[in-house]
Amino acid sequence: MGTMSNAAVRTLEDRFALPTYAKWPAAFVRGRGCALWDADGREYLDLYGGHCTSVLGHAHPRWVAAISEQAARLGFTSNVASNDVRALFLERLIAFSPDHIARAFLCNSGAEANETAVKLAMQVTGRDGVVAMTGGFHGRTAGALSLTHLGHYRERFPAVVRPVAAAPFGDLDGLGELLDDDTAAVILEPIQSMAGVRVARDDYYPALVDLCHANGTLVIFDEVQTGMGRLGASFAAELWRAPADLLTSAKGLGNGFPMAAVLTTEEVAAHVRVGDHGTTFGGGPLAAAAGLAVLEVMAAEGLVEHAATMGSVAHRTLVRGPVTGVRGRGLLLGLETAPPAAELARELFARGIVTGTSSDPHVLRLMPPLVVGEAELEHLATALDEVDGG
Ligand code: PLP
Repeated sequence: MGTMSNAAVRTLEDRFALPTYAKWPAAFVRGRGCALWDADGREYLDLYGGHCTSVLGHAHPRWVAAISEQAARLGFTSNVASNDVRALFLERLIAFSPDHIARAFLCNSGAEANETAVKLAMQVTGRDGVVAMTGGFHGRTAGALSLTHLGHYRERFPAVVRPVAAAPFGDLDGLGELLDDDTAAVILEPIQSMAGVRVARDDYYPALVDLCHANGTLVIFDEVQTGMGRLGASFAAELWRAPADLLTSAKGLGNGFPMAAVLTTEEVAAHVRVGDHGTTFGGGPLAAAAGLAVLEVMAAEGLVEHAATMGSVAHRTLVRGPVTGVRGRGLLLGLETAPPAAELARELFARGIVTGTSSDPHVLRLMPPLVVGEAELEHLATALDEVDGG
């Protein structure tokens, strides 16, 4: 460790891992705040936020201490045993969430959270149908893949996916046509991130909840990317005052420590009985310690408000050079690009700035740690000018 070059790390990893990812041309081995270092010692500005996971920034001292101290005390215990850190984390998570949210189920990944939410909706309503959205991404395991209509993900696995209809995102009439008396749930990402940071009109979200409730259908907001303060509000459900019955959270929940949650109401929780659902690792003491540290630091450092402020700065300052527009809320941002976004991402990477692409060839995604400052956004702005000047 510490003596391998970028090339050596990549060769070794590629030799043994399944070739499922198109990899960046560097191996990251260290981070601090919004900075990353590769195996050759080169520094980068991380505007991709790990993978939209880093809310506190890399290696935040309170997060490091929380995990380290917990590992030294109790690394794991079963969900059938109560645990002090889990109890404190749950209390804090519910307090952070929108007012209508009263209960949580802790699990391990975004896909697992979404599958759990769908299962709960079916149980509560006694119905089987689910409607998702065109352009939606909800994960790649069998159940979550059935909900994912973006791009090519489901096409090659017809035998895996259940029939889940896709309503046009942002269009209530189109959704209304797909609802019937067997629709248990409608699931959507409030902002479709992978589809190119697509945002609907402000009045769409509460109206969608009303439409679904009038049909006896529950609403699931997949807040895997939009949650945990990234939009400048705790969750999109809070930002748009849209009381979705189930919110799923992952990515930022543990600041990159793998964990996820389904957040729901007391009414939904009333249908759940012992043995209906479970998972081994969900809400283990290490994950709970990571999550508790995230919520404590976010409050102490005012990161939710800071995300809103930095989002405004980005909208104001980043339309320049190859960037023709900025979309998104808070720090879930899409830069609309004149050249192909993948080309721009490569040029920025060569200048030491990490960004992400999307399935829209002209949208570059920024999902920086919520601690990102004006200086870092200025650094990006300067690089955009340079790229434009050749
Ligand atoms: N939902 C959304 C909106 C996502 O962006 C992702 C992952 O990128 C998922 C679900 C799946 O999460 P995971 O990869 O943790 O299963």
